[in-house]
Amino acid sequence: MPGVSLQQINKQFGNDTAVSPTDLEFNDGELTALLGPSGCGKTTLIRMIAGLETPSGGRILLDGQNITDQPAHIRRFGMVFQSFALFPHLTVTDNVGYSLKINGVGKEQREQRAQELLDLVQMPQFGKRRIGELSGGQRQRVAIARALAQQPSIFLLDEPMSALDAKLREEMQVELRLLQQRLGITTIVVTHDQREAMTMADRIVVMKKGQVEQVGTPDEIYNNPASLFVASFIGKANFINGIIRRGTVIVGNNELATADKPGFIDGSSVTLFSRPERCRIVDNTGENTMRGEVTYVRNVGSLFEYHLTTDIGPLIIEKPNLQGNSPITKGQQILVQLPADSIKTFPALAA
Ligand code: ATP
Repeated sequence: MPGVSLQQINKQFGNDTAVSPTDLEFNDGELTALLGPSGCGKTTLIRMIAGLETPSGGRILLDGQNITDQPAHIRRFGMVFQSFALFPHLTVTDNVGYSLKINGVGKEQREQRAQELLDLVQMPQFGKRRIGELSGGQRQRVAIARALAQQPSIFLLDEPMSALDAKLREEMQVELRLLQQRLGITTIVVTHDQREAMTMADRIVVMKKGQVEQVGTPDEIYNNPASLFVASFIGKANFINGIIRRGTVIVGNNELATADKPGFIDGSSVTLFSRPERCRIVDNTGENTMRGEVTYVRNVGSLFEYHLTTDIGPLIIEKPNLQGNSPITKGQQILVQLPADSIKTFPALAA
């Protein structure tokens, strides 16, 4: 399966920049998620890769070949977009085999291929149904089967789960990922849902205002965000403002040790980042410990989220729900530690 390279690809709509000049590699057989808030340019980027939007500049390479000017129907990438756009008057089999029909493939061969694909998406019995007789999740699987009918080299999905409810969405994310791994097909998924990107992707491209903020594996992006934007967009986080004095971070009357030893000059304003699950509840004072009062306990089922007021400001910490009820209650005074190696230091955002 080939990979896709973008070289300085960009898109202007009039005076507005939807995508700034961008270099990206989509590796052979990998699933890459394009992740970012609404309007950051994800859809424009995937539409340029599909051949549905003409870039203002730059090049798109498929397996080293320049395909920038190739029309979409020549690229023949598999595509599933937000509205599955299935044909309601056709049966499931005819929907799946539609592109084969357009390309002159005979009925018998078409039906055989459609059946193989329906087996693949675990809908072997549904060939004769009409689209209106299917659930949202089933429609999505038909759309995926249809996109795979021509054995595309690249599979492009733009918010493919947006029409599904939360539970089905999670199931489909896992199913789609397993299918993609089985087929080994180079896949690009656009999403604004960080959980979806974390669940499915080999690599995540985080975008902001038409630019790439960070490219990395889900672990890299979650544990080592490159900017405050990425840190706040992916997962929950605590952000604590402080000032650098003699190489350490001062927050109010507290001095916090950080393992990342940033090279900030004295007097710099910084923002510290720490994940709630890395904060500890401890019995004794020590490095980076502080008193906190529990102001809210949130039961999320598998874990408890504690909201605290502390000397360094509000903090959220998370602990797994191991015994069915929270050992800590609202109003309780506790000691919290932010381990130095759980803290990352960023320049503070300008006020
Ligand atoms: P969403 O998650 O809301 O779909 P997105 O990240 O996919 O957002 P795009 O749809 O790529 O973002 O849009 C990027 C920017 O380009 C936006 O400011 C949008 O208004 C603008 N834009 C997109 N398509 C056009 C168009 N055809 N004409 C003019 N501006 C456009």
